[in-house]
Amino acid sequence: MNKLGVHAMVWEAGWSRDECARAVARSAEIGYDFIEAPALDPSAIDVDFTRRQLEASGIGITFSMGLDADTDISSGDPDKAMRGRKRLEDALAVVRDTGGTHLCGILHSAFQKYAVPTTAAGVAMSADILGQVAETAAKSGITLGLEVVNRYESNVLNTASQGVEMCRRIGAPNVKVHLDVYHMNIEESDVAAAIADTGDHLGYFHTGDSHRGYMGSGTVDLQGVFRALVRMGYEGPITFESFSSRVVGQPVEGILGIWRNLWENSGDLAGHALAYTRAQLKSAQEVQKQADRSRLP
Ligand code: MN
Repeated sequence: MNKLGVHAMVWEAGWSRDECARAVARSAEIGYDFIEAPALDPSAIDVDFTRRQLEASGIGITFSMGLDADTDISSGDPDKAMRGRKRLEDALAVVRDTGGTHLCGILHSAFQKYAVPTTAAGVAMSADILGQVAETAAKSGITLGLEVVNRYESNVLNTASQGVEMCRRIGAPNVKVHLDVYHMNIEESDVAAAIADTGDHLGYFHTGDSHRGYMGSGTVDLQGVFRALVRMGYEGPITFESFSSRVVGQPVEGILGIWRNLWENSGDLAGHALAYTRAQLKSAQEVQKQADRSRLP
């Protein structure tokens, strides 16, 4: 059974005590299994307060983040790589101490638009650092999800096959590919085939739609996406991610180009996404049963 989660920025722009308390409570109220919280600045997270909110609401947590130019482990600059490693280790401590299971997002490079392509040396350095960080994560049973994102947000992992190659190079069982329908819709030639080809390397999944608004109100073939996930037997976390200028502020607003109101009511959006995801998973599971039901007597 896939655990279903919701990104914290559906509710709040940040993770202050008040924002954390509201986001956790509302996610639980709607029926999500976990919340995905932003860990762009791990030092700003009140770990004990967060853990208490989760315990009170009975839901789990994952964290996502992206490195920045100064901590870019794919830069080829050893000083930046060391700072990047520190940032990732700090985030892992937050995941561990809040009882989290996954650290995902753009862990492999800066979360930004690059002006030049990545280099072999940069990729090698990123893989090396991530291998070291994965050892720390393994001690706390944490999985790292390397998010494959579109070309405007990283120059390292833009396609699922690059994500698989990176995981193979790192060679740690707790380093997985994190796919996202919004990014796949931009970069992949065949979204369903890319999901299938990722196979057992897939460890985390983001749903949403082409404009990052209501699920099913954009152009992503979500039926095809969920059929592909069920067909390959994916049982990992699925998080709904959506951004609107109604909630999101800087720096994420600027990096992602969130200029429009895609929605006004967070609760309506999140409730719809949960029902939509459950319905899509159910339909896809029924597809799998049709072969058995269609046998001749
Ligand atoms: Mn995503």
